[in-house]
Amino acid sequence: MISVIVPVFNEEKNILPLFERIENSLNKTKCTYEIIYINDGSRDNTFSTIKNLATKYDFVKYINFSRNFGHQIAVSAGLDLCIGSEAVIIDADGQDPPELIPSMFDKLNEGFEIVYARRNKRKGESGFKIFTAKVFYRILSRLTTIDIPLDTGDFRIIKRKVIDQIKNMPEKQKFLRGQMAWLGFRQTSIEYDRNERLSGKTNYTIRKMLRLATDGITSFSNFPLRLATISGFLCAFAGFLLILYTLYSRYILKDYEKGWSSLMITIVFLGGIQLIGIGIIGEYISRIYDNIRNRPLYIVDETNIKKTEK
Ligand code: UDP
Ligand code: MG
Repeated sequence: MISVIVPVFNEEKNILPLFERIENSLNKTKCTYEIIYINDGSRDNTFSTIKNLATKYDFVKYINFSRNFGHQIAVSAGLDLCIGSEAVIIDADGQDPPELIPSMFDKLNEGFEIVYARRNKRKGESGFKIFTAKVFYRILSRLTTIDIPLDTGDFRIIKRKVIDQIKNMPEKQKFLRGQMAWLGFRQTSIEYDRNERLSGKTNYTIRKMLRLATDGITSFSNFPLRLATISGFLCAFAGFLLILYTLYSRYILKDYEKGWSSLMITIVFLGGIQLIGIGIIGEYISRIYDNIRNRPLYIVDETNIKKTEK
């Protein structure tokens, strides 16, 4: 059984056209299926449209949130409650073409656990969005040690193994494409050109994009914390050079301004020391943070060692 997970937020006009396309594509896979709509606090007729569908078709499920929790959390809820042996995550606005599902499914069965769809071109999106997304994915891949695929969203098909592991990751900040990359397993991609939205406009406001970006970076990199230490050392070093210069001008050039040097040295040097202090605290906090996240130390794919009772 394939579970299709569709997070929806104010998509009333897109539900029905997309539903037909999803259903047609799923029929081509010859599998049974369920389509789970997670209504993320829509303020239009999205939910009643979904409920209508659910009365007609028993493979249509819905999860209705009490308010808007955000796209990543909506997808997580879908993963928590789906029962398929595979799950497809897809946007409700038609930007992720459901027609790709059969070929993604075939690819998955060649022996992968995750097949994600990589965006070649992005139609109908602002230059600003495309640019910030490009920059973000590249910064992220510089900062992290895991291979988060460039230019991919959450449109993908995953196996039950992956769903179960994602459910085991306890962190409250969700950055699913990063978490899935962190899990490992056999992953591959197919490419596609991203279409325009069927109707409506993007629900990812700049604020939501920033939130996703900071969640992505802080969940997978402690580099920002280390910046304080690095800048501290740089400042302390500059302070040290100033001391040398002051001594030089005081005793060799014999040309100096009274009071200036002692003041500058104190400010720069102490500033440096303070930043180092903050940086060290940061190092500790980052480790505490790692622990509080409480991720499993490693992921076992398969083993022939039987679990023994203690
Ligand atoms: N979405 C959601 N909650 C939100 C924002 C978006 O469930 O707070 C859904 C939305 O309905 C769509 C998907 O997430 O199915 C992607 O959102 P959108 O198309 O607005 O983002 P973009 O494609 O512009 O990045
Ligand atoms: Mg979209």
